[in-house]
Amino acid sequence: MTRLSTHDAIIIGAGPAGTTVALTLARRGWAVAIVEKSVFPRRKVCGEFLSASNLALLDQLEIADAWRANAGPEIRRVGLFSGETCVEAPMPRSKDGPPAKDGRREKKDGFGRALGRDIFDCLLLQAARSAGVEIFQPCRAVAIDQDGEAQWVRIQAGNETMMLRAPVIVAAHGSWEPGPLPSQLGKTNRPSDLFGFKAHFTGSSLAPDLMPLLVFPGGYGGMVSADHGRLSISCCIRRDMLARLRKHPRQQSHLSAAEAVSRHLMESCWGVRDALESADADGPWLAAGPIRPGIRSCYERDIFRVGNAAGESHPVIAEGISMALQSGWLLACELACAPGGCAGREIAGRRYEAAWKSLFSTRVYAAAALAGIALSPGSATWMAAIVRNFPQALTLGAQLSGKTKPVPGFV
Ligand SMILES: Cc1cc2nc3c(=O)[nH]c(=O)nc-3n(C[C@H](O)[C@H](O)[C@H](O)COP(=O)(O)OP(=O)(O)OC[C@H]3O[C@@H](n4cnc5c(N)ncnc54)[C@H](O)[C@@H]3O)c2cc1C
Repeated sequence: MTRLSTHDAIIIGAGPAGTTVALTLARRGWAVAIVEKSVFPRRKVCGEFLSASNLALLDQLEIADAWRANAGPEIRRVGLFSGETCVEAPMPRSKDGPPAKDGRREKKDGFGRALGRDIFDCLLLQAARSAGVEIFQPCRAVAIDQDGEAQWVRIQAGNETMMLRAPVIVAAHGSWEPGPLPSQLGKTNRPSDLFGFKAHFTGSSLAPDLMPLLVFPGGYGGMVSADHGRLSISCCIRRDMLARLRKHPRQQSHLSAAEAVSRHLMESCWGVRDALESADADGPWLAAGPIRPGIRSCYERDIFRVGNAAGESHPVIAEGISMALQSGWLLACELACAPGGCAGREIAGRRYEAAWKSLFSTRVYAAAALAGIALSPGSATWMAAIVRNFPQALTLGAQLSGKTKPVPGFV
């Protein structure tokens, strides 16, 4: 027999975007359900760096103290590792925090830090649970059916099926996996597709306050010191380059994708080789993708989208978690003050889409331009030459990517 459950909102996906919407709506008295297919804690392909501009929002979500207690060191320098080039420049400082209770502006949190997604996503989901959100996990959303005012999400756990009903449906399932939901993207298969890879290491010699951008033939990436002495290294690499690297020149067999990527990084970025020389892998390499950078609709067919499902910047600027948290917050604020019914959802959808574009469009286009340069043949050489002569370009790039842009409502 199929079980039924009724809510004010159903959120599909418990990444930072989904949990932010769920938590914010639940604190405003909504009956919210989250559906998450994976068991937590889970590792995730992600560089795990979070800009300091989000701290006021994390304070509002009441998880900032836990984030501060767990995250890695402050990242005060940005760098470029490409070939034998290792250049660095100051990271721009985020604007001061919101006024403290006595009216003074706090000077804390000027710089971003990195926290493993196995920890960060659990903090957010635990906060949502404490706020009364009903969590269906591990459960996969497999269909959304619409019938006038009622919308149904069919969820599956093993052989068991359940129907959840609510007027508001939020797609927060990310963008890297195709699937049957109307909000999920179709498959792609182009030589230029980018696959994401990520690994953790311990015992690295990377300076703890430095986050270098890695530029290498066929891809780009980054390294950062995260929580508990872990180094997080992540990158994107073109499908055609990956296929070429996996063909071992002297052996009949193919290399694994992880082995091919890790060798390529070490051989084409000397800074990576040096940083990992005496480091130990902490868990296997993870892969995901292809990634789907671009701007999508924020509200379509009566389904709201947040995080990567709404739009995604190339990870070259490490702003995806910021966009996930902030878009979740923007949507929850619009939903909470919109009138009820279909007309109210239309209004919330229009206002949310406008707010999304004004906050994120420049970041998405800037990231696409930077990624385009990093991925063009021969770019590594001339990018390294420019940055060696003008290291300030790195500081400017970090500023343009939105790292210091305050979240509306928290200025
Ligand atoms: C190589 C790389 C490095 C990156 N580095 C950084 C960085 O340093 N800093 C940064 O800010 N961003 C970074 N990003 C981007 C960042 O990881 C994403 O933008 C962010 O995770 C998006 O959050 P989200 O909540 O939208 O989706 P996700 O984090 O992808 O969460 C979606 C959730 O939905 C669940 N789900 C999916 N389908 C279903 C379903 N049908 N039913 C139920 N649950 C479902 C998934 O299991 C998942 O838990 C990086 C990305 C890549 C590829």
